[in-house]
Amino acid sequence: MSVEKTFNPGAAVHTDGDLRYEVIIGCEIHCELLTKTKAFCSCENRYGGMPNTRVCPVCLGLPGAMPIPSHEYVEFGARAGFALDCSVARFTKFDRKHYFYPDLVKGYQITQYDLPLCSEGKVAVNLAKPDEAPRFKTVRIERIHLEEDVGKSLHIEGAHSYIDYNRSGVPLIEIVSKPDMSSPEEASLYMQTIREILRYIGVTDGNLEEGSMRCDANINLRVIENGVEFRTPISEIKNMNSFKAIRDACTYEISRQLKEFREDRQAFSQGFKVTMGWDESIGETVVQRTKNSFIDYRFVVEPDIRPLVLSDEFLSVAKAEVGERPAEKRERFKREYGLSDFDVNTLTTDRGLSEWFESAAKAAKDPKKVANWVLAEVLAIVNDRGVALEDLKFTPAHIAELVNAVVSGSITSKQAKDVFARMNESGERPDAIVKELGLAVVSDSSAIEKIVDDVFAANPAALEDWKNGKTNVAGWLTGQVMKMSKGQANPATATALVQKKLADIR
Ligand code: ZN
Ligand code: MN
Repeated sequence: MSVEKTFNPGAAVHTDGDLRYEVIIGCEIHCELLTKTKAFCSCENRYGGMPNTRVCPVCLGLPGAMPIPSHEYVEFGARAGFALDCSVARFTKFDRKHYFYPDLVKGYQITQYDLPLCSEGKVAVNLAKPDEAPRFKTVRIERIHLEEDVGKSLHIEGAHSYIDYNRSGVPLIEIVSKPDMSSPEEASLYMQTIREILRYIGVTDGNLEEGSMRCDANINLRVIENGVEFRTPISEIKNMNSFKAIRDACTYEISRQLKEFREDRQAFSQGFKVTMGWDESIGETVVQRTKNSFIDYRFVVEPDIRPLVLSDEFLSVAKAEVGERPAEKRERFKREYGLSDFDVNTLTTDRGLSEWFESAAKAAKDPKKVANWVLAEVLAIVNDRGVALEDLKFTPAHIAELVNAVVSGSITSKQAKDVFARMNESGERPDAIVKELGLAVVSDSSAIEKIVDDVFAANPAALEDWKNGKTNVAGWLTGQVMKMSKGQANPATATALVQKKLADIR
């Protein structure tokens, strides 16, 4: 007797002909940390430069050299752990993972095997579009461990291969998720979320082009055919460094695995894994190696580094340094400033921008208006002209002053645009520009009344139309008043006076 297999309630089930399947993806993200020095020596931790200029006996793995983990390295790792809701271990140690590759000088990598610094965390991934209310899916984090990066091989076609050890010993964290993602989009959003959080808390620059963050995806399918369950062999797609690459590679793997399953019905077996690379140019995954048995990395305790015992003080400092995370900031901005999901999402993509906005919003009478200025005018300059926020001629205080001038009615929104253009050029304060250009709005009704009288006197035909029942005359007359005042009349006052005078003559 066989038991009919079905999917779990809530599983995203797809159909392909007579097959029904679900997608299972787990990710391993390697992320370089922004510490001043490399992980275990005092060489400068920086990207690029002349090859092999930032190396020493420790990161070159010379015999007798002693690695010493930097304080900042462990602290950044703990900070990342707290940011991803992990438990951070008080007792942790380093291990050696052995394998042979030219860019791995010592023949082993210093990493953490059975006692990782952080474990059992989680991250909320927002699956909604930017203009929708957030819809979160929780992805569990299995562990985050500390390890060192390796050198870089450079293959010059038709010539030699070279190795640059500047990257050897650069501090990494490896973040291992549970297989909780059920589509290529979710995997891509997961990586975006992790990058955003880690950049926010200042432990990485998350620079994808420079390889500061690389993602490996483990993907397979749970297939049900005629009530019988299969799992396809897991493919591990290595070293993807863009959100698009993850999405495209996983999408490709799903169709490849389905096709392969139809051909040979090969099912999952423990330890069998195909390691693949993603070839962007042909849009296909390429097999790098298959392993039928577990690779023996011969893990041993790193004997040159004493186990770490982290104090309460060390841990509470790391925890305090996390600060507000992006999702929390979004909720608060919505609550405190009454902003829409779209506005909030745009304002918080970058921590610097969110802080720039907030310091203006705090000083202004209308935070919503501040958001509009930042999203439309400020970001246009930043994005179109590639100017960094801190290089702008004006500051959040300028925007607050400008908004306050509009809110108090001393200038119109239209005039505010001119003031903005000028302060962007010169860096002068809005109040000074208003004074200098003589822009202050005329709210004094007697002065505006005089203009209204002049406009009425100059446009008898319009008044004739009004008497004959035309209704759109009021708006046109108000426009004439604004024009005659060179935009300085308070629009509300002008409108009221025109209405009043028209009512008198009909
Ligand atoms: Zn070094
Ligand atoms: Mn690793």
